[in-house]
Amino acid sequence: MLIVMEYSATDQDVEQVKTAVHAMGLQAEPIPGSERTAIGVLGNQGYVEDATIRNLAGVREVIHVSKPYKLVSRDFHPQPTQVQVGSVVIGGDAAPVVMAGPCSVESEAQMIASAAIVKQAGADILRGGAFKPRTGPHTFQGLGVDGLKLLRQAGDEVGMPVVTEVMRIGQLDDVCRYADVLQIGARNMQNFDLLKEVGKLDYPVLLKRGMSATIEEFLAAAEYILAEGNQRLILCERGIRTFERATRNTLDLSVVPLIRQLSHLPIIVDPSHATGVRSLVPVMAKSALVAGVHGLMIEVHYDPNTALCDGAQSLDGPAFNKLMTELSGLQSYLASTEA
Ligand code: PEP
Ligand code: MN
Repeated sequence: MLIVMEYSATDQDVEQVKTAVHAMGLQAEPIPGSERTAIGVLGNQGYVEDATIRNLAGVREVIHVSKPYKLVSRDFHPQPTQVQVGSVVIGGDAAPVVMAGPCSVESEAQMIASAAIVKQAGADILRGGAFKPRTGPHTFQGLGVDGLKLLRQAGDEVGMPVVTEVMRIGQLDDVCRYADVLQIGARNMQNFDLLKEVGKLDYPVLLKRGMSATIEEFLAAAEYILAEGNQRLILCERGIRTFERATRNTLDLSVVPLIRQLSHLPIIVDPSHATGVRSLVPVMAKSALVAGVHGLMIEVHYDPNTALCDGAQSLDGPAFNKLMTELSGLQSYLASTEA
């Protein structure tokens, strides 16, 4: 339930509403806006009888929200959220950021070479998986903590923040020690215990959409993180499972404008996992920019043919460089049409 206050409502009016909400055994979270204050009501299982609240001084409207998410929604938080990672700002009207690097950390030489490529091309954040959620157990599973160290070392060498996946609660201490952004992968989007645990941290989180998750389920998963207090959340569309097998997944690009309408959180797109096909990555990255993303995550390998994971969807240095030049031109054009 959302309680919208009048322009003229006083602090005392807001306090009185909070007291009434608490008396009903529920939590009240004021959301000050530029024009008026709203008060989010949390903790209710079903419909809340609103007559007492509706009649209080300064109350303009009571909106019953039946969605499984509130804190992530624009109704509760009209201003866009910006997530800061080092000096990189993601969300709102900040220029779209690019996170790039190999699917997996493989060796020191591979990480150093990859970091140099993505830095030189202008990427903002270095990626690399150390704990890998592979479909089968007989493939490369990642270097674990050694991989985290190599990722950190490569990031420090080129002066870039780093993002990497955390698959379970027991890995959180290590991942927090070496990474700047915690990635929760598609397969763990509904690992609710993990979501709650990262929600307790003051740490940027990148939450990828599950491969079969509806938008409502995606936003409800994000709600778990915000509900524990962590507001530093970035959403990522990475393609969904459909009947189509020609591409690895189906990029659901319409979620970008949709999530921008529904939520205040930044939304980025990963065209690499969304397509699984290297030749499709650049055009889908550019399409995502047109759709309004706050950022992109792109897999880049210095020699994709030798990659231990996801080589078929990884760009090499020259291809990534070309894409970054094109993205920058497109971004300038889009900015000029907005002005
Ligand atoms: C990844 O980014 O390395 C990854 C495994 O992605 P996803 O969770 O989207 O499959
Ligand atoms: Mn990958």
